[in-house]
Amino acid sequence: RIKEKGKNNYKFYNQSMTEDAYKSYSLERDLRKAVDRNEFEMYYQAKINAKTNGLVGAEALIRWNHPNGNRIFPGDFIPLAEENGMIFAITIWTFRAACEQLKRWEKGGLTTVPISVNISPEIFDRQDWVETLLQIMDETNVDPGLLELEITEGVLIQNDETFITSIETLKQSGIKISIDDFGTGYSSLLYLKKFKVDTIKIDQSFTRELLNNDVSLILKAIIRLAHELDMTVIAEGVETAEQATYLRQNECDQIQGYLISKPIPVGEFVQLLENPVIQIAKGKSRQPAQN
Ligand code: C2E
Ligand code: MG
Ligand code: MG
Ligand code: MG
Repeated sequence: RIKEKGKNNYKFYNQSMTEDAYKSYSLERDLRKAVDRNEFEMYYQAKINAKTNGLVGAEALIRWNHPNGNRIFPGDFIPLAEENGMIFAITIWTFRAACEQLKRWEKGGLTTVPISVNISPEIFDRQDWVETLLQIMDETNVDPGLLELEITEGVLIQNDETFITSIETLKQSGIKISIDDFGTGYSSLLYLKKFKVDTIKIDQSFTRELLNNDVSLILKAIIRLAHELDMTVIAEGVETAEQATYLRQNECDQIQGYLISKPIPVGEFVQLLENPVIQIAKGKSRQPAQN
């Protein structure tokens, strides 16, 4: 009997493995077509000044409008794209989209705010990545000072000469660099100074635990250190008014999170540009049905 049960389990397991393989195969196949078919869309999430609540920037977050009607979130396809090399084409698309968006706002006479774009470390394997970004800025005639690259800290600590030169070249163009998900996993802080990073983004896991004494102590130290190095500090994942108040009182410069705004399509984001002091909901966060 045991044997039989084992056999059935095995069969079941086998079948679901086949389904998974099929799913990821069709996802990969669809993803390969998605760039050409223009199925991606940038959503924008507000960043505000912690003291004045004034809009100071936008993070561009990619969404994939799959032809089957589903909106697919980056967590469900960016890792795949990083694995199969598609991330380079996707990044070019996102970066160009951000540049063109800035130009459209400018032409429309809107007050523009800087846009940050997420950059996966996998693209650094391509020798021409810096050149490609510089070329896109040139073609779109965008002010590089309005663009920021969000890079996670893992790649920065590797201390690779070529990479250091790449970042220096980009910084000379005027583009800004921020460290995304700061505080998740790496302990060396030396790179902060080496790369002359502009901004550090405190990871959501810290924000969530803000009112816990130990986290609070570390956070205050990070903010002090960042300010001594002339860097801006932004906290990600701010969901409650309590967190926002705490961050403001402890000199965190900027905040970003569902409390202020979820990531929204550009048409909605323009309303924030037109009325750039954000009214924060009291007490509870503005939970998105979908983001
Ligand atoms: P990230 O860059 O750290 O972006 C922050 C993520 O947290 C976003 O998820 C955002 O929607 C979500 N978020 C913002 N505020 C809150 C909040 O108050 N509470 C909670 N629980 N979550 C919040 P999203 O858009 O699903 O993106 C996930 C990750 O995918 C991003 O993390 C980024 O690493 C990556 N990603 C997004 N867009 C791109 C892109 O265009 N290119 C690349 N390479 N990666 C991207
Ligand atoms: Mg980011
Ligand atoms: Mg982050
Ligand atoms: Mg992230």
